[in-house]
Amino acid sequence: MRPRPSSLELSLHCTRAPWLDARFLERTEAAQAGSSVDSEISTAIATGDLPIGASQAARHCWDWWRSLGGVEGLAEVHVQGLISLTDPEDGSELTRGTPDLWCIEQDNSILVVDWKKAEQWRAGLLPPVNQNPQLLSYLASLMLSRRAVRGRVVVVPWDDDGVYPQWSKTFTAADVLEIIDMVKSAPEVDPAGPEPQATMGDHCFRCYRRRHCSAYLLPAADPMPKALAPLSAPGELARADAVAALVWMAEAKAALKRGQDLVDQVDDVLRAHALQCGPIVDGSKKWGPTPTKGRRSGPSVEELEQSGRSELIKIGKPGVRFGWTKL
Ligand code: SF4
Repeated sequence: MRPRPSSLELSLHCTRAPWLDARFLERTEAAQAGSSVDSEISTAIATGDLPIGASQAARHCWDWWRSLGGVEGLAEVHVQGLISLTDPEDGSELTRGTPDLWCIEQDNSILVVDWKKAEQWRAGLLPPVNQNPQLLSYLASLMLSRRAVRGRVVVVPWDDDGVYPQWSKTFTAADVLEIIDMVKSAPEVDPAGPEPQATMGDHCFRCYRRRHCSAYLLPAADPMPKALAPLSAPGELARADAVAALVWMAEAKAALKRGQDLVDQVDDVLRAHALQCGPIVDGSKKWGPTPTKGRRSGPSVEELEQSGRSELIKIGKPGVRFGWTKL
């Protein structure tokens, strides 16, 4: 099978990434919660108004959309319409997916819109807008099928404070063949076949499947045991061993950070799941949120009472902690 548009960018760096993507199609609760703003703004554009109780972020997206002229200012508007890119040479399907929004402007140029969380954009997890294979594959398909001579994509990162639209250059018919070549260069994926070779690099930080990737996970334990011997041997540490120890320490810290990033990711998914679906039960215990009273700081209550400053005693802010409790 061909990689999905959302897998294209990583598949150009690493053949294992689209393979893992095809095998682990699950959408986590955390991802669903993250896309609720996308669904609010999609509903708003489809129905002509924001849903009651829409989030602040969705309101910013809506205001931006209205500033473009909204539905009235465009010839066609399609919310989450399926798009298939076919090879103009032999008609085979190269990829197929669903952009958040695509429009035909009054002059028949194409506009593809992608809503994204601003934190992903700020963390550098999105490819540059002019080289975004996912959005460019949608654009190329629409330019071909609508015989459009120009088109643009816009990524719209959002948060509670506003939107930060990232516009691409204007792509022309001459660019479409280059985009198709780029999509064709992504290798086929066989989800039932053997695990493809992993190619690690900075792109791993953009890989949503990294918690399933042995190449990413295993180095966490790999360099440590074999490099520890000179440090644990009796006697004085030789200078050469000290240099090696520094290298080992840097690798170990990087590996531990990767491990901690993964733990944080899994923790986020579990918290979102427990909040949405209730505590996770295992035998006689359950894992989920428990209210906490919150901590107070400063002088002790006793000290304040003794010094006659009991008006300074403040009740701690209640919170919530996640962990095991008895059923
Ligand atoms: S984590 Fe890196 S090496 Fe592993 S599949 Fe993803 S991109 Fe490839």
